[in-house]
Amino acid sequence: STSNVEKKYIASLDLGTTTVRCFIFNKRGRICARAEEKVELLHPKRGYVEMDPEQVWSMCKNVIQTAVTSVGVQSVISLGVCTQRCTFLTWDAETGQPLHNLITWQDIRADQLVNDWNNCWTMKAVRWVSAVLHFFTRSKRYKASSVVKYMNAQVVLRLKWVLDNTPLVQQKLQEGRVKFGTLDTWILYKLTNGKVHATDPSNASGTALYDPFLMVWSGFVMALVGLPRDILPEMRTSAGDWGTCAESLLGQPLPITAVVSDQGASLIGGGGYTRGHIKLTLGTGGFLNLNTGRSPHSSVKGIYPVVGWQEPNGVVTYMAEGSANDIGTIIEWGKRIGLYSCVSETADLASSVADSGGVYFVPAFQGLQAPINDSRAGCGFLGISPRTSRAHLVRALLDSLAFIIYQMYETLLQEAGHLMFDSGSKILADGGVSSNRVLLQHVATLCNSSVTRYTTTDLSALGAAVLAAVGAGVFATVSDFEGDLEVECVFEPQELLRPELLRQYNTWRKVVQRFKHWEQRK
Ligand code: ADP
Repeated sequence: STSNVEKKYIASLDLGTTTVRCFIFNKRGRICARAEEKVELLHPKRGYVEMDPEQVWSMCKNVIQTAVTSVGVQSVISLGVCTQRCTFLTWDAETGQPLHNLITWQDIRADQLVNDWNNCWTMKAVRWVSAVLHFFTRSKRYKASSVVKYMNAQVVLRLKWVLDNTPLVQQKLQEGRVKFGTLDTWILYKLTNGKVHATDPSNASGTALYDPFLMVWSGFVMALVGLPRDILPEMRTSAGDWGTCAESLLGQPLPITAVVSDQGASLIGGGGYTRGHIKLTLGTGGFLNLNTGRSPHSSVKGIYPVVGWQEPNGVVTYMAEGSANDIGTIIEWGKRIGLYSCVSETADLASSVADSGGVYFVPAFQGLQAPINDSRAGCGFLGISPRTSRAHLVRALLDSLAFIIYQMYETLLQEAGHLMFDSGSKILADGGVSSNRVLLQHVATLCNSSVTRYTTTDLSALGAAVLAAVGAGVFATVSDFEGDLEVECVFEPQELLRPELLRQYNTWRKVVQRFKHWEQRK
């Protein structure tokens, strides 16, 4: 009976920081069914941000079962998976038991280690030798390592922290039964009932354990930091054969044909296949991604070269990426303390005043990322006066998000501007916070570029579905996909307001200078 049912859908599992979702797409990219559960983040100590691995897995199971059975598993071609990068776990290779909670990309427990490493003589020597090698070879790879600095969001030093501080992990390591994986790897392992222990280059490239230039795990970094190689997952192309979901999940096996990071996926979902496309994802954190085509970008200011995705023929699309860890977290905080009762009120409140009345905000719960690169920056308001109203504070919050996005954009422009105009410099926006019109209008004006928002804000899930279709052989390559994406709104720069906004931006940058290195001063 299965054979006469037409297979017409692709399932897509999207593991965000706030939600776990499963969508069923048709071949034109329309959502035909969906299921969603809210993720619970754990904060066991200051700076620790974890997720319960079994709970996340059971949520994945639920949303896949609900979404897939609503259209009938026999009509689904395959499953694609996209996940937040840099959240990781270690587990017992024999029993599959997690050895601790998932440590998320927001977690800064290894901050001291990160600082010590960045300032230690070994790293100075690495940078110096790389600079010399770059001078002689002109290799972009050496240029990248001549400025290399570890960041909290990358996995490498948090993993080292785990190996150094968790007796259970140390014991299992001695017995040679530890498996390491980023979130995609863990979920894939569970989906396949322990059969597949693998990851793709887009997820690996955020860990700093992977060399995006050579496309292999970096033996050098592993040796430098002292991490064992045999705990690493196998590498597969983002679109391709990832095994099958165990029969127990849906009553019959369902092939898994794509695994990719959410950032790469959303670039695909927004149609940014080719070099020069820029995508701005505003979820819990913010990411500005520039498609740099077939070659990795090497930065001097911490705009990272990452892999966007790899197709079955081996072709890799790279991205240059700037990130700001605190975007949605700021909006959520405002709600939590009662500045507004619902996040969608923020736009109206902010536009009820002409400006922030001289109040500035620095959105740095987890420090400031590139180009400031200060994990100890303080977070807060400056310039509050007796005339300051609640609306001014909300305006300052939204303004600060626009400023931090523009700062990333400016850095990308300086470093890779020549690539940005290949596609006419348009920005595609997605993620929950992109439903905020005040913020997107500010971004358009500051960047002097149009900002497009589609009716679907689930571009990552769509991108993972497109890749899964490629992996299943429905399309030969991602650009064969012709979706029915509808543009919901295009924000054009407001020339007349730009000088005033730029003036405020410059003041904000001075405010940021005052907030730098705050944690050390305490
Ligand atoms: P993630 O993928 O990281 O889980 P989402 O893309 O789902 O995140 O975005 C969730 C965030 O979007 C939340 O922080 C929420 O507060 C924020 N958000 C939703 N609607 C709005 C709005 N109208 N204005 C500002 N922020 C919003």
